[in-house]
Amino acid sequence: MPAERTPSGRRRDPRDRRPPPRRRRKQKRRVPPFALAIIAIAVVIGVIALATRGGDETATSQATAEPVIPKVSEADIAAAAQQLGPRDQELVNIGQTGVSVNKGGNGRKVVALTFDDGPGPDTPAILAELKQLNVPATFFVIGGNVQENPDTFRQVVAAGHEIGVHTWDHKDMTTLKPAQQKAEIESTAGEILSTGGVASRLFRAPYGSVDPSVLKQSQDAKLLSVLWDVDTVDWTRPTPDQIVQTAVSQAQPGSIILMHDGGGDRASTVAALPRIVKDLRAKGYQFATVGDLVISNPPGPDDISAESRSTQR
Ligand SMILES: [Zn+2]
Repeated sequence: MPAERTPSGRRRDPRDRRPPPRRRRKQKRRVPPFALAIIAIAVVIGVIALATRGGDETATSQATAEPVIPKVSEADIAAAAQQLGPRDQELVNIGQTGVSVNKGGNGRKVVALTFDDGPGPDTPAILAELKQLNVPATFFVIGGNVQENPDTFRQVVAAGHEIGVHTWDHKDMTTLKPAQQKAEIESTAGEILSTGGVASRLFRAPYGSVDPSVLKQSQDAKLLSVLWDVDTVDWTRPTPDQIVQTAVSQAQPGSIILMHDGGGDRASTVAALPRIVKDLRAKGYQFATVGDLVISNPPGPDDISAESRSTQR
């Protein structure tokens, strides 16, 4: 079988053990600059494609690829800081104690529904259910997914739901250096601001994985770290019955309920949502965004922690 060569002579039969001819090396030096630029662009696109698949359950093995995290301009950060109203300041103040909020206090029968890892293909169905139910929710979004699905993200914002930062590519933040942790948070906050026109004041670490360094980065970005006290483990694709049972049986006044609108097929979550709302309303619960919940039901000492929560998503 003859050795295969491209016109430039760069591709050879792998069985050809001879040293490459001199001519090949000379030709390599003559690759025109525009060709190098095209190769560089292709590599960048490939890396972005890998990095933005962070919300996919099958993509965990691709974490070795270095993410391409867009820089946030100083103007964006300054604009976000100026948008800090009294409500934002109240949330920031809780965050400045260097802890995460696991739930609101027990003051009133209010709970917050939270959806992580989107925006994605199932987000519009979640939005349609929430609209039908007239329930506000909080979406902890992945920066890369916002960049990939800007129109869906703007629908979430337009519907009045609260937005939280869930990092650029869903890495375990405790495995990153402080500069990378900062970039994960700032890039996502910047994408939220530039795409949706809103400044987020909430942060949720992927896998609930926090340590003092992660909490400090969250504080520095003027975000309140938010975890949860009710985990529906909907990412394991239980039946809608099981999701409803977990959410409704575990909810207490002030609960923050963890669900997902991204990271895989969320048909079970979509199907469970109206039943969760109906059953909790029957038990006398109302619904609020995380920010409103935390303000209306201020967390007590038992509702905050500096520790990680364990979850696969
Ligand atoms: Zn997540």
